Amino acid sequence: MKSKTLLRLALGALISFTSTIDAIAVDGPAKQLFGAQSLPTVSAPQSAGFYSKGCLAGGVALPVDGPAWQVMRLSRNRRWGHPRMIALLERLARDAATKDGWPGLLVGDISQPRGGPMLTGHASHQVGLDADIWLTPMPKQRFTDDQRENVAATSMLKGDTLYVDPDRWTQSRTALLKRAASYPEVERIFVHPGIKKKLCDSVQGDRSWMAKVRPYWGHYYHFHVRIKCQPGSPNCKPQEPIGADDGCGKSLAWWFTDEPWKKAPEPAKPKKPKVTMLSDLPKACAMILNAPGPKSVDQVTYGAGAKVAQPAAAGTPATAYAPEGGDLPEDVPAQGQ
Ligand SMILES: [Zn+2]
Repeated sequence: MKSKTLLRLALGALISFTSTIDAIAVDGPAKQLFGAQSLPTVSAPQSAGFYSKGCLAGGVALPVDGPAWQVMRLSRNRRWGHPRMIALLERLARDAATKDGWPGLLVGDISQPRGGPMLTGHASHQVGLDADIWLTPMPKQRFTDDQRENVAATSMLKGDTLYVDPDRWTQSRTALLKRAASYPEVERIFVHPGIKKKLCDSVQGDRSWMAKVRPYWGHYYHFHVRIKCQPGSPNCKPQEPIGADDGCGKSLAWWFTDEPWKKAPEPAKPKKPKVTMLSDLPKACAMILNAPGPKSVDQVTYGAGAKVAQPAAAGTPATAYAPEGGDLPEDVPAQGQ
């Protein structure tokens, strides 16, 4: 009797285990599956995969408002990131406001709650280690939800040209980029080639930080901060290390030829007609997609202000890196933030 009961229990457990596996194994277009997630997993933070092909466990939200930032486009629900990314944004906001004369950050997209591909807008931003920050300074007043959806960012370019409008670019913007580049965990910052050129033509003194600032399509009303794979993410795939060169030579000159602008401004790799399925992402992403979430958003919102944990000290620019690595793939240039 007893052993029969045990057997039945064991069978039952096996069946439920099997159906759990089945539930996890259901495949589908990754952007729809991840785009439907409204909350992160409650687990240790972990980025799985690559910036443009991966997902995020244990993501936390940047609070909608902080002493020196406001999150824009709240309806997109993309204010989620690895806790180190969120800590960095809060630190940048504070440092820029207190040291660089930049009144505060308007923060655009970071990642979805569980990362992954998005239904609109970006190729990267999938592992919680990318964030877009507007080049428009934060106003004194708090935006309403409606304004956060509709206020437009200001282009830094002069008309339809590839060049920065000298009346719009300010020293404080240069200081903001330099500040962002000063943090050791920041590996790359993407800006429009015109902005890169402006820095190349105007930055005096220490230029070592400029190696991190990379020209890319789009990014003329915002810049994009990318941090390295963080500890505790064994499945995070790092990008090629950047060179120590300030990037003001040949590689920048290429952007001012016809070549990058001939067709649709897409990365050089041919676009796969195939839709990325959940099964195309790292295996961990199926688990992450199906893992339990928190009871409330508050439970997974990063502590603001004084509660912010300090990441590693700033001020160590990249110097000893290997030869040039590609930046691709990156953001799909999109209209509107
Ligand atoms: Zn971006």
